[in-house]
Amino acid sequence: MSENENKELMPEKEGGLNFVEQIVADDLKAGKNGGRLSTRFPPEPNGYLHIGHAKAICMDFGVAEKFGGTCNLRFDDTNPVKEDVEYVDSIREDIHWLGFDWGDREYYASDYFPQLYDLALRMIKEGKAYVDEQTSEQIAEQKGTPTQPGVESPYRNRPIAENLDLFQRMNAGEFEEGSMVLRAKIDMASSNMHFRDPIMYRIIKHSHHRTGDKWKVYPMYDFAHGQSDYFEGVTHSICTLEFVPHRPLYEYFVKELADDSYCPRQIEFNRLNLTYTVLSKRKLLQLVKEGLVDGWDDPRMPTISGLRRRGYTPESIKSFINRIGYTKYEAVNDISLLEYSIREDLNKRATRVCAVIDPVKVVISNYPEDLTEYMEMENNPEDPESGTHKMPFSREIYIERDDFMENPPKKFFRMTPGGEVRLKGAYIVKCTGCKKDADGNVEEIYCEYDPDTKSGMPGSMRKVKGTLHWVSARHCADAEVRLYDRLFNVENASEVKDRDFHELLNPDSMKVVEHAKIEPFLAENAKPGDHFQFQRIGYFTPDKKDSKPGKLVFNRTITLKDSWQKINK
Ligand code: ATP
Ligand code: MG
Repeated sequence: MSENENKELMPEKEGGLNFVEQIVADDLKAGKNGGRLSTRFPPEPNGYLHIGHAKAICMDFGVAEKFGGTCNLRFDDTNPVKEDVEYVDSIREDIHWLGFDWGDREYYASDYFPQLYDLALRMIKEGKAYVDEQTSEQIAEQKGTPTQPGVESPYRNRPIAENLDLFQRMNAGEFEEGSMVLRAKIDMASSNMHFRDPIMYRIIKHSHHRTGDKWKVYPMYDFAHGQSDYFEGVTHSICTLEFVPHRPLYEYFVKELADDSYCPRQIEFNRLNLTYTVLSKRKLLQLVKEGLVDGWDDPRMPTISGLRRRGYTPESIKSFINRIGYTKYEAVNDISLLEYSIREDLNKRATRVCAVIDPVKVVISNYPEDLTEYMEMENNPEDPESGTHKMPFSREIYIERDDFMENPPKKFFRMTPGGEVRLKGAYIVKCTGCKKDADGNVEEIYCEYDPDTKSGMPGSMRKVKGTLHWVSARHCADAEVRLYDRLFNVENASEVKDRDFHELLNPDSMKVVEHAKIEPFLAENAKPGDHFQFQRIGYFTPDKKDSKPGKLVFNRTITLKDSWQKINK
């Protein structure tokens, strides 16, 4: 679905509120939950957060902020096999970086294991749960289909005392993983498949990052989530559309606890899906494990930490999320809209500098050999407050190799023998020729400058068609530049099933330039977290892992223009 169609299907907004905010506003007005508003963001600490999570974070924290409520951070740590403290730490850092804070409300589903276990015992005693000794395959076979009722387990009607005894022994570690589960006794013929005696607990014999080896049974998502919301006093449990069919079960379990005065409510919105990207944590983990990227924060990853390392700003991510909006319809969002948002933001904030990525030397033969002039360069024409910095000019400079052509086609307005170009912020020069090596590669270009064309001089108003960026050969510094591009070559990378995932990777997603030439101002001032526009090339940021004084490394955040539109459409 295209972005436009997506907009048309957007539920009506009243007073600038999206549909979730509208529900919250109505509930508050009606005095539900004693007029309280409490949301939660519930990540499972089994991977790093990605841009899809950012959409959920902006909703969960944003709605609380907007209506004076609170938002909890709850780690949904119910599967010790996949979870890790490294993920917990990264999740905290990423939420803070996006500009949200949960105060002292950091919770863990594992904090509620005792209460959940007690609820399970109570449900067994009330005849609402039983221990099933069938294999998971047998259970799946008996599930039926949406149009065909399921088959009841032979263990469904075993005596309460036996269920109690077995469940307690499951937790004592007496039985092997997979040998039995606790199931809710609901309705094997229900039209909602989730009601066909869902599993509440399974045996897992793996140490948990918080509770160690205390528990041998772990609750399933459906048995943990709503109750955790209830224990925390969450009023609006906002999640993505795939949980719509789970909602009746959410309500079923929550009713075991709630009364009329307070009951959490689940509301669903559409996930963020991006073209040329995968967002499944399983696939992202695979990229990391196979070394196809440089960790979770590789600048090509759609993770928050990857986007941060790439040079994305929280503002650009939030403005993108605002643009795509929240609806009740699944859609795929165009990655060029995200790229547009970062260009728009960096255009406002990035300092303009000169860097030459693929340098070739130019000798200005009529310029004095020992002279250095300092040219005044604007830091950012979009920001009148940003001021200027000085850039040295001398007899030998570097320009981009592809800004010169000996035998150019028509409409080539860059450097060519006999032609004139302006060197940005400096002089107009006329090219007089070049020197080539035995293979015909250009080694050096020769020019003459017109002293009358310096900025402020009468000749500076003279018009020439091309303006080139440059750096002074004697003054510039070397830097490594990493030219990042999209990680996948195909638009629907997350949906392709008939081709191996590896075939979909863009082989040109990273190009390393080891010896780019950068102006001294950049070499002296670049710090991680800064944003620069390399004139005519793109937006760049120092790499926070590898860039050091003396060995600067820059990541390309994004090109100045969208080159994919033309090539791939
Ligand atoms: P997995 O890939 O393992 O299914 P997940 O991406 O759902 O995991 P969680 O840690 O369970 O990850 O997600 C935390 C919250 O973020 C959930 O409320 C979920 O709905 C939301 N979320 C996850 N992916 C997206 C997405 N692409 N768009 C919007 N919200 C998302
Ligand atoms: Mg999930």
